[in-house]
Amino acid sequence: MAKKKRTPEELSIDPAAQEMLIRADELGLKTAFTRADDLSPCNIGSAGMCCKLCGMGPCRLTKDGQTGVCGATIDTIQARNLIRAIAAGSAAHSDHGRDMAFTLKAVANGEAEGYVIQDIAKLRTVASYYDIPVEDRAPEDIANELADLYIAQFGQQKGHLAPVVRAPEKRQQLWEEHGVTPRGVDREVVEALHRTHIGDDQDPEHILSHASALRWPMVGAAA
Ligand code: SF4
Repeated sequence: MAKKKRTPEELSIDPAAQEMLIRADELGLKTAFTRADDLSPCNIGSAGMCCKLCGMGPCRLTKDGQTGVCGATIDTIQARNLIRAIAAGSAAHSDHGRDMAFTLKAVANGEAEGYVIQDIAKLRTVASYYDIPVEDRAPEDIANELADLYIAQFGQQKGHLAPVVRAPEKRQQLWEEHGVTPRGVDREVVEALHRTHIGDDQDPEHILSHASALRWPMVGAAA
């Protein structure tokens, strides 16, 4: 059964948003709010959790203690969904980063018409973060090496990702403590994730299959 239509005051406390919702209604335009009112809530979603990560599901869990076919609890499914959503968003944005790295390389090689290296001081500063030599080198040489370093991050399999050194020291220590410093996907990482994020009810091989399928951004740059 469809939900009852809510008033603009019930939809938003912002007077400007309320005004827009009234105007949209006058014009007969749908908004996210009216579409939500038109939809019946999903019984499984409102009572618990549905998982369709693999072909053994969908697994529909509505009570504490229930597990999916693979053994995942509601908490595991929730945590996994959150991490996968973060992975998807990060992967999409990391693609912009890769394009920028390719652009930097093209500029360094004089292959990007209309682009020049404008801020040489900044280029030298950033290169220094990664121990790239800057003295007595042409900006294009530095930019080329920096671009190569960035490009190599996409698809890195082992070891910490280079930009980790730019995170605040306290954050780096916290990552180390929890064994989640961003790095390539290897066995050690999967075991750390197993301990800290997934719980003991999942088989590491199962987690590895999800992590590699996603190229989990917290453990490696998404390609
Ligand atoms: S991952 Fe587990 S809980 Fe999800 S659909 Fe597959 S078997 Fe079910």
